[in-house]
Amino acid sequence: MLRFFVCRVAGVTESNMVWPVLREIAMPRIAYVNGRYVAHRDASVHIEDRGYQFADGVYEVCEIARGFIVDMTRHLDRLDRSLSELSIGWPMHRSALIVVLREVIRRNRVGNGLVYLQVTRGVAPRDHPFPDGVRPSLVVTARKIDPETLRHKAETGVKVITVPENRWDRVDIKTVGLLPNVLAKQKAKEAGAYEAWFVDPDGTVKEGSSTNAWIVTNDGILVTRPADHGILRGVTRTTLFDVAARLGLRIEERAFTVEEALSAREAFLSSATTLATPIVAIDGHPVANGHPGSLTLSLRQAFFEIAEKSPA
Ligand code: PLP
Repeated sequence: MLRFFVCRVAGVTESNMVWPVLREIAMPRIAYVNGRYVAHRDASVHIEDRGYQFADGVYEVCEIARGFIVDMTRHLDRLDRSLSELSIGWPMHRSALIVVLREVIRRNRVGNGLVYLQVTRGVAPRDHPFPDGVRPSLVVTARKIDPETLRHKAETGVKVITVPENRWDRVDIKTVGLLPNVLAKQKAKEAGAYEAWFVDPDGTVKEGSSTNAWIVTNDGILVTRPADHGILRGVTRTTLFDVAARLGLRIEERAFTVEEALSAREAFLSSATTLATPIVAIDGHPVANGHPGSLTLSLRQAFFEIAEKSPA
């Protein structure tokens, strides 16, 4: 009877397909919060966590693909840099953190998706200066993403809009202080676009709200802004340098304008979850013929093979 009822609720017929579906429905998501694995719906941090009150913390997002954590070493190296730029200690030894990442992925049965980790300075009575003797807080979550959704996005390409750069000048640190990025992404969404490019007063493109920005010139050269303090040094961006080298493609690290992007052969964006995804329009104007570029798709295709893969 119970079996019949659950099948009705799940909208499936009682067949061999039923039990895997039911297991998915019954399986609660699990998060790691400061030393404990807890049900995702009950996971919470203290109201005086400095991440909550001051955005005083950093984060990382790693792609999980076909059962592997992609580019974990580079993500943890960047975490190390972000923490040290803000004088926040590691919440635990790096090898212990890797165990936690794997455990959260395992408990949520993520084969394709992402793992998110966030470290804040910790919990202390609200006061701006760094508090003495607090332990950094650590939260880890993981979730599935259907690879088909991402593939579809790559096959159709995405649209971007441009917005004036209005962020602080240390966006090279991957902090949880993302309000300008949130507002820019929302503006993109309202315009029917996927991403917003931050543009400097001189007309040059910095990066997207959660992605790095690239173009391919008519000579087939990949162009992306130098990763100084003006953009986040994306891990995907770094690995794309390896992919380009393998494919015999040249990269120039220099600023480019929106006009140059519009007359380029291709434009694309990169991040751990989107990899290299073609851009087909900027501010409503088509890039090249308005279709995904072939070089971008080749980079995307070669990415997994060349990236570091650690068993999840
Ligand atoms: N730029 C910004 C502002 C980002 O937030 C991100 C990713 O979150 C990226 C670029 C891409 O970085 P990665 O390739 O490491 O995901």
